[in-house]
Amino acid sequence: MIYYQAKNNFLNKKTLLITGAGDGIGREAALTYSRFGASLILVGKTKLKLENVSKEIKALTGKDAKVYELNLLTASLKQYQTLSHKISENYLHLDGVLHNAGLLGVIAPIIEQPANLWHDVIQVNLNAAFMLTQVLIPLLLKAPNASLIFTSSSVGKKGRSGWGAYSASKFAIEGLMQILAEEYKNSNLRVNCINPGSTRTNMRLSAFPEENQMQLKTPAEIMPTYLYVMSHDSVHQTGISFDAQPNCKKAYPE
Ligand code: NDP
Repeated sequence: MIYYQAKNNFLNKKTLLITGAGDGIGREAALTYSRFGASLILVGKTKLKLENVSKEIKALTGKDAKVYELNLLTASLKQYQTLSHKISENYLHLDGVLHNAGLLGVIAPIIEQPANLWHDVIQVNLNAAFMLTQVLIPLLLKAPNASLIFTSSSVGKKGRSGWGAYSASKFAIEGLMQILAEEYKNSNLRVNCINPGSTRTNMRLSAFPEENQMQLKTPAEIMPTYLYVMSHDSVHQTGISFDAQPNCKKAYPE
């Protein structure tokens, strides 16, 4: 199976923002992009987790990552605007954004999905990604080339019984990605989705508690696709939903 082999330091002088960067796939993406030279803005709910990732980045690369605590469930448009303003005070542009934060909600048939949880999942997985994108597009358009990445799921492409709000939110993310890709097709901004596939994280564990976690790919193993979609090699690719599996290989030992 072919996997993407990124060139050393290909993200030098690039500034990337990642949501949900404190844990799971987002944490691994932050460490990986940083190892390839990127400067990172880490956004997430739990400040301590973000600070720990920032420390790991410092130890690995000597770089200082910016930490920005933001609860995507409760954040107002004003808070997104403040974040964008703070970034523009420190950087001329953004080279990439990875919308990675996600909420599972409950696995239950539609008739049993609690309305409040439905709202929360749509708020974190869809509305937050919309608002953050809206305030960051001006910074992305100032970059020579920029990559905007949303995180999808196999249940965002084919509905599956019991996956309720989560599945609906991922279908909507695929749609949002396609709309943006069309709107910016004549610009420097490319817009794509990545479906990580089954990956060994807390979210996967809570969805499938009975599963043997050791048989799943680790976040590190799915990074080749994350590197490719952020790299100059994908500069002409927009409007695509990439599957991170099975094109996997650890970029580094864990
Ligand atoms: P994790 O649960 O391990 O990580 C989710 C991340 O999202 C955490 O950093 C979490 O922060 C953050 N987050 C959750 N709620 C909020 C919030 N309200 N505000 C800010 N940040 C928040 O999940 P994964 O790493 O597995 O998932 C990453 C992405 O991949 C998600 O979009 C998920 O839907 C998608 N995905 C995962 C698959 C898998 O098998 N793992 C398969 C398909 C898609 P905190 O830890 O502080 O709560």
